[in-house]
Amino acid sequence: MLFYFYLFIMPKIRLLSPDLIAKIAAGEVIERPASVVKELLENSLDAGAKSIKIDIEKGGLQKISLFDDGAGMEKEDLEVCHKPHTTSKLETDEELSRIMSLGFRGEALSSIAAVSEMIIRSKTALSPIGHQTKILNRKIVEKNPVGMPSGTQIIIENLFENTPARKKFFSSETLEFQHILNLVTKIALSFPKVGFDLSHNKKSVLSLPKNQTPDERIRRLLGDKIFSFLLPLSFESPHLKLHGFLGKPQIAARSKNKQYLFINQRLVRNLPVSLAIKEAFGSLLDPKSHPVFFLDLRIAPENLDVNVHPRKEEIKFLSSKAVTKEICAAVRETLEKNNLLFSHYSPDSFEENSPHTAMLLREQTPIWNVRENLEEKEILQLHNTYLIIETKTGALLVDQHAAHERILYEQFLKTFQEMNAKKHRYEFPEAIVFSLPLSETKHLENHLETFSELGFDIEPFGHDTFKVSAVPEIFKERNIFSLIREVLGDLMEEKNISIDRYSEKTISYLACRSAIKAGDYLTPEERKRLVEKLGQTQSGYTCPHGRPAQIEISKTELEKMFRRR
Ligand code: ADP
Ligand code: MG
Repeated sequence: MLFYFYLFIMPKIRLLSPDLIAKIAAGEVIERPASVVKELLENSLDAGAKSIKIDIEKGGLQKISLFDDGAGMEKEDLEVCHKPHTTSKLETDEELSRIMSLGFRGEALSSIAAVSEMIIRSKTALSPIGHQTKILNRKIVEKNPVGMPSGTQIIIENLFENTPARKKFFSSETLEFQHILNLVTKIALSFPKVGFDLSHNKKSVLSLPKNQTPDERIRRLLGDKIFSFLLPLSFESPHLKLHGFLGKPQIAARSKNKQYLFINQRLVRNLPVSLAIKEAFGSLLDPKSHPVFFLDLRIAPENLDVNVHPRKEEIKFLSSKAVTKEICAAVRETLEKNNLLFSHYSPDSFEENSPHTAMLLREQTPIWNVRENLEEKEILQLHNTYLIIETKTGALLVDQHAAHERILYEQFLKTFQEMNAKKHRYEFPEAIVFSLPLSETKHLENHLETFSELGFDIEPFGHDTFKVSAVPEIFKERNIFSLIREVLGDLMEEKNISIDRYSEKTISYLACRSAIKAGDYLTPEERKRLVEKLGQTQSGYTCPHGRPAQIEISKTELEKMFRRR
């Protein structure tokens, strides 16, 4: 009896064996075969490799080999590089805040060694021969000199064989290889100067020459079709440099997996940056779509914390707000330059001699132009909702509501800017008083200043009521109360909405409310006017909420549909 009692109170905490500690730690860094490839690639890139060859067998579970032509390691370094916390990239605390290399944790090779069998060969340019070590259960079991070119070769076999619990998760070699291919594609995008060769089960899958330009690399990896939908972005400020491409709204995706962000060449996810870019697209995208982008951000390493994720997939900015503000401005500038967006900064900046906004408004270039032959064209209305028209290169389908919304939106926006909201106010002969549910009252109170900047004169009028005495001229005939409520509703969901986005929103509601609806019959004359006006808009591809307003079907596509090609 006493024996059982002692058993019960025996201490339960014990120190794990070094082997188990190593395996547990490795689990964080090496999640799946693609994590091994990522760490090996980062090491090769840090070593200045110009060509990297990766051979995968059975999704990486059987074998991963990598060959690089980087700086290589001397014998002494080679013999310690697989040990935990060994790195040549970092020495002092202070250096941690100035990391420019991809690696710095000194954990990758030791983590891989804990869950696989590894052979490392390496030779520096100065050494006449190379050296090789074979590592089993985290220990060197063999050392030999070898003849080899300068660089490093690493062969990893039987990954996760000694951690059966983890191995169970990888049932599909194809899926694991897909992860590896995605990863290599992404890394190759940010290092166009480096050549990459990737094979699976001895079949070549990817072969990218070295010294490509960023454009060549993107074309090669993603194809000419996607490339034709990209807008180049180039932006420099005293704090950061941003270069790359934005996808036009037509190729926006339902998920964020087409967002490639490299910060100091490190492939990372960063929610504030993703959100800032989406915000900058404004009404060009519907709320559920995510913009496509390839962006290479360079920023002083002191402004970053790269040590916030075991696999280095995330970073933190010291001042996220300042960075995202500049990124948002860079994206808007690119969209404006490509006539996809109206510039709608503060209406006060709209002066005769301010080239910025005024030029953009005047130099409208229609995105397509059917005007010259519109006269003879017959426009068909289908189901009182869609219009169809022959064009030089195919057929154009138009959604009449979305198209009219876009036209009105741009008209309203233009009038709004030109009139200078604050100066052209319409004062009601008698102020309108309205009340709001209590939950919304606070909200409106917080936004009174925003409304005032837009030219609305709203004051609290006791308890849950407000008094509107003036509105911008163009809004004077609208149902102001429902407009204010709708916008408020939206503001509640989307906090921190900017003034630009906000005025844009107000205007898009107006456009939507006043536009012809699906189901309205249009006379041939009205159809013609609608199509003509749509041709003159700046971003006629989508309605202000981002739904398509027109879809062009090319002759080639028609021919393909009918198998004429
Ligand atoms: P980290 O990259 O964080 O320093 P690793 O465990 O990935 O840690 O690598 C340990 C060290 O081994 C590196 O700091 C580097 O000196 C050396 N090393 C690893 N791979 C290579 C390579 N491909 N070429 C040259 N040196 C390498
Ligand atoms: Mg490393």
